[in-house]
Amino acid sequence: MKPPQVLREGTKKTIFVNFMDLCKTMHRQAEHVMAFLLAELGTTGSRDGQQRLICKGRFLPKVFEGVLRRYMTEYVMCVGCKSSDDILSKENRMFFLRCQQCGSARSVAPIKAGFVARIEKA
Ligand SMILES: [Zn+2]
Repeated sequence: MKPPQVLREGTKKTIFVNFMDLCKTMHRQAEHVMAFLLAELGTTGSRDGQQRLICKGRFLPKVFEGVLRRYMTEYVMCVGCKSSDDILSKENRMFFLRCQQCGSARSVAPIKAGFVARIEKA
């Protein structure tokens, strides 16, 4: 995976430039990745017209990388065969990760609802 490209805007905002690229690399919906990322960073944010992610606060590229790594472990990678070729689906209000390589499935933790509500307000 490519490293996050991060720009600072003024003193209060951080722009995650290649956010969409990384979502595509992981085959995940931007909304889901964004909800996780903002919850982990404990901040709010939104996407701009160029599909960049604007986060409130100052964060180093290293921080984004660490959060994405946790996202990969939790929501992308198969624990059985370490493949990232799997599908995240929602069934009965639960999220399941199904591996396309070895066929194993596991449930994953939902992203905290409180943070989702905060994103909608932002
Ligand atoms: Zn697998």
